[in-house]
Amino acid sequence: MVFRVLDATAFYAGIPFASNDSFMTTSMVYEEIQHIKTKQGVLEMLQQTNRLQIRDPSEENIIIVTDASIKTGDNSTISKQDVSIIALALENDIELITDDFAVTNVAKQLKIKTSSLMTEGIRTVGKWIRYCSACGKEFSKQKECPICGSKLNRKLIKKSI
Ligand SMILES: [Zn+2]
Repeated sequence: MVFRVLDATAFYAGIPFASNDSFMTTSMVYEEIQHIKTKQGVLEMLQQTNRLQIRDPSEENIIIVTDASIKTGDNSTISKQDVSIIALALENDIELITDDFAVTNVAKQLKIKTSSLMTEGIRTVGKWIRYCSACGKEFSKQKECPICGSKLNRKLIKKSI
């Protein structure tokens, strides 16, 4: 069976729910997507039928990816989840499906094959925003909260269609 690695953006876009392929993700990303409550039953079914495997990369590959992100200047943009998912693709030498520019950038630096949601035939379903987990305020361009100085988190907001 050929597996491909999915990041959170690919789950939000519904890739595993609309495909018969097999996928892999890390426990950190799986945690992150747990709130897609409507898909809870599908996620369980995919795991039971072995079409979705939760695996975590070695510490060694985490370090390789972190070093690569410093080289490309994406280290302040990508999250721990992002690093874990790139490291998983690296470790298993498989394709990574992501719609995140920084993740794609770091993956390319490591010669990991990537595929965007658009090449998967799916239009982006939302827009990325940055927010401060301390103040709860949303920002568009900043990396740090201009109010309290916390590092901003990113989340994908679903477009209402
Ligand atoms: Zn703040």
